Parts: sequence; C-alpha cells; structure tokens
Amino acid sequence: MDLDTLIAQWSGKLPPGFVPHAVVRQEPPRCVQPRCKRPASLKANGEYAKSCEPCRIRRAKSCKRRRAALVAEGGCRRCAYRKRLEGDFLCQRCRDERDVERAQKRQDAIDAAAIDEFAAQPDKARRASNLDIGVSPWNGRRKPEPSAAYWSPLPDPEPKSEQTWRKSLDDNGWRLSRH
Ligand SMILES: [Zn+2]
Ligand SMILES: [Zn+2]
Repeated sequence: MDLDTLIAQWSGKLPPGFVPHAVVRQEPPRCVQPRCKRPASLKANGEYAKSCEPCRIRRAKSCKRRRAALVAEGGCRRCAYRKRLEGDFLCQRCRDERDVERAQKRQDAIDAAAIDEFAAQPDKARRASNLDIGVSPWNGRRKPEPSAAYWSPLPDPEPKSEQTWRKSLDDNGWRLSRH
C-alpha cells in the first residue's frame, strides 16, 4: 500500500497536491409532466426528481384540493377515499389502523418506563425471584476466614502448673525414664 494513501486514511485528510477527480455533471432529465419543457429539479439527497419544481407544487396543490373536496363530501379525514363512519371522522379501516398505532405507542411508553425504572435503581444485590429464590453469586454468604483470635488464642485461664490432676501423686514416672 502506498504510504500517502495510508497517511490519508489515518489522518482523514487528503495528501498535499492531491487533485480530486472532476465531477461529471450530466444533463438533468426533462420533467415527466406532459407539455412541460423544464429540466427536473434536484432533490435534497442529490438525485433528480421526476418533475420540475413548479410542476411538483402544482400537483401537490391539486392533490390537496381534491382531498379537501372529498372530505367535504363525507370522506374519511385520513384517507379521504372511503366514507366516514356514522358519527365519526374516520372510516373503519383508518380507525383500526389508528387503534393499532395507539396501542403500539402505549406499549412503547410502558417499555420505556420499565427501562427507565431499571436504569434508575442503584446497583445492589439481586432480589429474590420465584424462580431462583435469590440464589446468586452476588447474594452468597462470605467465605469464612480465620480471624486474629484463631492465630492468637487467649491464654489458659489456669496455668498448667496448677493443674494438679495432670500429675500422679504416687508415680513420679521412674518407669519411663532410662536407668
Ligand atoms: Zn414540469
Ligand atoms: Zn380512511
């Protein structure tokens, strides 16, 4: 790999003296609307639209007028092409779709609340559930460790010299000693 290319990729900057390719600007296509000779307009993403700007506005206005007329004749407020239900401003299909959207939105709100609640609670040992009855490595009892009392026990309350029961009264142990 070329070192300049590598440096450019790492730094995100073009190397000095780099001449970018000339952008080939082709001729914009003609507007597809009949009897319109204007070139098509450019969309925000850089592609060409099918129509020119005046045609687009004209058709949008026409669509709006048509919808308004249909709604005035008793069409659905949302789709405008089906009759409104009795005492309602939506048709049956739009009403069903809106109910589905509302249920979905409500479910999303419930999920977001649950996530927020979980994120808000502090880190701590897990609470017991019905499934695991709280058995978790985070809830375990500590391993017992020897304390200082184990390594340095208390002194005998009674000195061994005073424990007379340890020594026989009439046997001084001569049998165990070497002659
Ligand atoms: Zn046009
Ligand atoms: Zn509708």
